[in-house]
Amino acid sequence: MAIKMVQKRLFGTNGVRGIAGKEMTPELTLKIGKALGTMRPGKIAVGRDTRTSGPVLINALKAGLLATGCDVVDCGILPTPALQYIVKEHYEGGAMITASHNPPEYNGVKIIEPDGTEMGDEETICLEELLFDKSAPFKQWDEVGTEVNALHLVDEYIHAITKQFPEKPGKGMTVVVDPGSGPACHTTPAILQALGCKVLTINGVMDGTFPGRMPEPSPEGLKGLAALVLANNAAFGVAHDGDADRSVFVDDKGFFVEENQEFALFVQHVCQNERGAIVTPVSTSFLIEMIAKKAGCTVRYTQVGSIYVARTMRELIETGNKVIFGGEGNGGLIFPDHQFCRDGGMTAATMVSLLARSKRSLSSLISELPQRRMIKEKIKTPYGSQLIEQLNQKYARESLDHTDGLKIKKERTWALIRASGTEPLVRIMVDADDCKTGLALFEEIETSVSEILKKMSNR
Ligand code: MG
Repeated sequence: MAIKMVQKRLFGTNGVRGIAGKEMTPELTLKIGKALGTMRPGKIAVGRDTRTSGPVLINALKAGLLATGCDVVDCGILPTPALQYIVKEHYEGGAMITASHNPPEYNGVKIIEPDGTEMGDEETICLEELLFDKSAPFKQWDEVGTEVNALHLVDEYIHAITKQFPEKPGKGMTVVVDPGSGPACHTTPAILQALGCKVLTINGVMDGTFPGRMPEPSPEGLKGLAALVLANNAAFGVAHDGDADRSVFVDDKGFFVEENQEFALFVQHVCQNERGAIVTPVSTSFLIEMIAKKAGCTVRYTQVGSIYVARTMRELIETGNKVIFGGEGNGGLIFPDHQFCRDGGMTAATMVSLLARSKRSLSSLISELPQRRMIKEKIKTPYGSQLIEQLNQKYARESLDHTDGLKIKKERTWALIRASGTEPLVRIMVDADDCKTGLALFEEIETSVSEILKKMSNR
């Protein structure tokens, strides 16, 4: 019997996303609410980021949930990790209206499971089936759900972080926060103030038009943050993406800290106290393995996507393994004693503690990390999976890893080739000790790719 591959039709690794009013319509959001309410009956917490389309979509989502009999707890505007924490502590599920780092015209929905993690692949496929199922009826007047506002619950999230730093490590430290006009305007400055820091902000007023910078915290968008850090002799600047599950940093000299280096610094910090596994996707720099191994820790690799990191961390812990940290090379870090999801506020707070303990400046800590080079390239082609299969044969004698796409591993250099699940393109990444070694491997892979694609298009 042939096994039918069931694939997600709407949701990606981080929920559904699209242009508001075009792909991400109130009709679709209502259907998502109805499907979630059918799948997870009970009390569902909802929240949103600051996007202008947020009120439209959250009301549609709530209508769908209420119509299936779910009781809705509206937590208002808050970071995704704050809603994840609230769901984990109190509710049967949650849904966040956000498009994370995407431009202002986008919006989307992230579904949160009762344990606070984002919904996994199997459950999402079930949710999608319910979404396309027209037979699920709406409840009658005496069975529809109730709605309450719970804007105060975000304070529990702030407290959950600050209570982990009772020694107030930020005393005497000036820091600058750039929440990017997003939901962390009300959380990260408060968290860092509670840690004893003197906090300055830029783009610190919530605004869904994002007047200061785009929701992706890119080096170009953080020039204002860097200038403020320098002008105030701040210890660091921290910036979030549009839903504040990621944190990126500017050091005391105003330089952007590359995200793999950021991750490495946190690994170094966590490994000072504990030994165990660090979990990260195959796309993360070898730098993490170098730092972890030096400290007597191990690295476990997963598919690309924070949900896979979070789930693997939890599974390893449940099967008796010691897992001390997890994260991605994009500023998304997971602190397992706090919760199993990326958390921008917790990352900012831990940076304060890291610097206080080291008694060093961020720029000097970064300068001591081994230097690595990463090269990234996208190639447009509809033959992604066939291309990877051919490369697999070509490089059969090398050390290969098939966790996600194809990873060709040399001693201290690797190349990762992955086909996009949503677009006709292939992503190539190379990570090496230096530019020359990296470019040599990159050019070799690129030549192989163009030869294979040429043969395919001539068929
Ligand atoms: Mg995000």
